[in-house]
Amino acid sequence: MVHPRAARAFVADQDRVTWHDTAVWAVRQKRDRQAHALPEWEELREVAAGIKAHTLSRLDGYLAEFERNATANGATVHWARDAAEHNRIVHGILRGRGATRLVKSKSMLTEECGLNPYLEARGVTVTDTDLGERIVQLAGMPPSHIVMPAIHLKQEEVGELFHRLLGTPEGLSDPTLLTEAARRHLRERFLAADAALTGANFAVAETGGVVVVTNEGNADLGITLAPVHIASVGIEKLVPRLEHLGVFLRLLARSATGQSISAYTSHVHSPRPGGELHIVLVDNGRTATLARPEFRGSLQCIRCAACLNTCPVFRRSGGYSYGYVLQGPIGSVLAPGADPRAHRDLPFASSLCLSCGDVCPVKVDLPDQLYRWRQRLAAEGLASWRRRLAMRVAAFVLARPEWYERAGKLVRWTLRNAPRRLLLSRLNPWARERELPEPSAESFREWYRRERGTGS
Ligand code: SF4
Repeated sequence: MVHPRAARAFVADQDRVTWHDTAVWAVRQKRDRQAHALPEWEELREVAAGIKAHTLSRLDGYLAEFERNATANGATVHWARDAAEHNRIVHGILRGRGATRLVKSKSMLTEECGLNPYLEARGVTVTDTDLGERIVQLAGMPPSHIVMPAIHLKQEEVGELFHRLLGTPEGLSDPTLLTEAARRHLRERFLAADAALTGANFAVAETGGVVVVTNEGNADLGITLAPVHIASVGIEKLVPRLEHLGVFLRLLARSATGQSISAYTSHVHSPRPGGELHIVLVDNGRTATLARPEFRGSLQCIRCAACLNTCPVFRRSGGYSYGYVLQGPIGSVLAPGADPRAHRDLPFASSLCLSCGDVCPVKVDLPDQLYRWRQRLAAEGLASWRRRLAMRVAAFVLARPEWYERAGKLVRWTLRNAPRRLLLSRLNPWARERELPEPSAESFREWYRRERGTGS
């Protein structure tokens, strides 16, 4: 997947780009206000990063502790090596109980595993119950953002979709009325469900419980009404002790949506009376990442999406340009780990402005990881020939001051003398997306000499 090519359709609609950029940036600003209101914010980040690093360093022991405690609570724990095994396990649980109607609350892990199409091909009706997820499901699209899956759609587009599929009045685009229509539609699905599937934001080794954080209460409704609850949990979601949750819950809501706390934080320890609780612990490449010390830090991610909201590339290219289940800087770091060849372009879809690392609540060093992936992909011959050529030329020029001076002169000459039509043509996509700068009258070196009055 070539990121610039994949971004082309989104970038072509400048109104949408501006609106998407503004909407996502507003969430980043809300996050900033919350973070600045907590004097201990940096301390919380430090502690959270420490807890995660500690847990990952002893993951096998904490997973075994979690399994023991969850089993003692009455849950059935399953282990899935990869996406295919996860999907087989979930389908096996449903088939064994004759369940054909599943309500699902938002889970990026099941997106990662491709669970919906797998189950639907086997006769199971899957209803995503998070409002944004349901919107993209009805539209036949994947989520475009980890936390706000339908952020790329305008309310008029949602209104048109609901009119077509849910029978709302034509032209209705009021968000409150659309939400009310979705609530009525989803309520029927909840009441008819044979089973509920949730993700998990955290799994606590000490208690054997899973913790699900939502703003809509949809996970709770599914768990409470359906006789079977399946929780799909990535093995990196472990935290050792219950008391550690306080650190992460304070960071998560503030980083994700700019709220001081999410509306619902549900702790699930045992099946409801007469019901079943299945917990599927999923690896799907996580132990491979654990085995790469330079990329291990990415497993600390708590999927808050703050790095997406701050990323200038994500804000202006949209989630679908990444071609991976996770987008933005964290997607660009995790995708090549899953398939380096398919996602070789993503680590380069970054300005390396370092903002993603600054906002990350668990201190994943995203800029460093993006940079390391670039190096690794180049060393493995997976960077495109254009990129390799550009880097060779840049390395040659930057290592030779006289060539650097000559290159600067050539660029200035070209900007002054080449026809504007040529500069703004398809040959120069960079300029088509930006203001073409007016060349300065003097080079940086000439300016520096003049300002400093030195001859060197
Ligand atoms: S890498 Fe950090 S900022 Fe990005 S989604 Fe994960 S926790 Fe949030």
